[in-house]
Amino acid sequence: MDPEAIKRSLDGSGLRCTAQRYAVMAFLMDHKRHPTAAEIFKAVNSLDPRSSRATTYNNLRDLVKAGLVREVAVEGRAGRFDLEGLRHHHFICDRCSNVEDVEWYDVPKPASRSLGKRVVRECQLILRGLCAKCAQRASR
Ligand SMILES: [Zn+2]
Ligand SMILES: [Zn+2]
Repeated sequence: MDPEAIKRSLDGSGLRCTAQRYAVMAFLMDHKRHPTAAEIFKAVNSLDPRSSRATTYNNLRDLVKAGLVREVAVEGRAGRFDLEGLRHHHFICDRCSNVEDVEWYDVPKPASRSLGKRVVRECQLILRGLCAKCAQRASR
């Protein structure tokens, strides 16, 4: 995504393209290692010291709500964020807690009778286990 694409996706989502939202999106585009909100704030704040923690967190929440940014739930730890643009699943390492992208594949939807009136947007998987590095260490 280039700068124009960031602006377009903000416009398309109905969010005003403020300098801060733009900075959050641009940071996520350049850092695909699933940063936490605190890391995003640090980066945005170092570019523009006027941006407060509260504003950054609010912007992040707006972007998640608008479907531009995804929060990857990691139990017991700070949520990690990435851009919604490219569909992928996630792998979380039990040992080092690294969050890695796994190429997208379609997951069968549950039977409609078990969903009732719920409307499913997507089904996202989180695979867990040992990442390549930790698996190698464990086998030694
Ligand atoms: Zn690991
Ligand atoms: Zn991801």
